[in-house]
Amino acid sequence: MRIGQGFDVHAFGPGDYVTLGGVRIAHDHGLVAHSDGDVVIHALCDAMLGALALGDIGQHFPPGEEQWRNADSRTFLRRCAALVAQHGHALANADVTVVCERPRLAPHVERMREALAGELGCALDQVSVKATTSEKLGFTGRGEGIAASAVVLLQPRAVAAPVAGEDDAELHAFVQRVAAEVEADVAHPLAQAKSAAGSAARSREG
Ligand SMILES: [Zn+2]
Repeated sequence: MRIGQGFDVHAFGPGDYVTLGGVRIAHDHGLVAHSDGDVVIHALCDAMLGALALGDIGQHFPPGEEQWRNADSRTFLRRCAALVAQHGHALANADVTVVCERPRLAPHVERMREALAGELGCALDQVSVKATTSEKLGFTGRGEGIAASAVVLLQPRAVAAPVAGEDDAELHAFVQRVAAEVEADVAHPLAQAKSAAGSAARSREG
């Protein structure tokens, strides 16, 4: 089992909607970001990458890169899910808390769970989204932005399962590139776990 946590913040700016958990929600502000500013998905991606010790979302999807301008963050989530599968794990469960005074998120939480579970290819009861306020304290309390934190638990995969969207050539290339990076870094925890498993198997065979 591996556990990971993630945290993300985006400030409010001009606009008339926010995108949270893959759901578009009408609001009198937007979120300032290079991508769509989906703090729920960004925190969740960072938790998944953290569980794999694979760095953070900024390293895999650099905000300076033109291809991620106004990007739909569901792309990030699908790629992180593919990395989880590629590294021999499956999501056990995820729990996200999103903090803001406005917009009121309770009416949208179920749609967020459905959207996230759909992208992750898991059951609805494996994904929790909770919305809260900070009691008018701090930057979220002053209505300056939205924050989200996420925790995920990954379990080893019993059998190799097809990665969602594996027919997506770009996603496949991304997963292969990260796998090669881990392979090249012998000090990486996943590379070590793999070689330990390999030598254990070899000694059993011997
Ligand atoms: Zn973000």
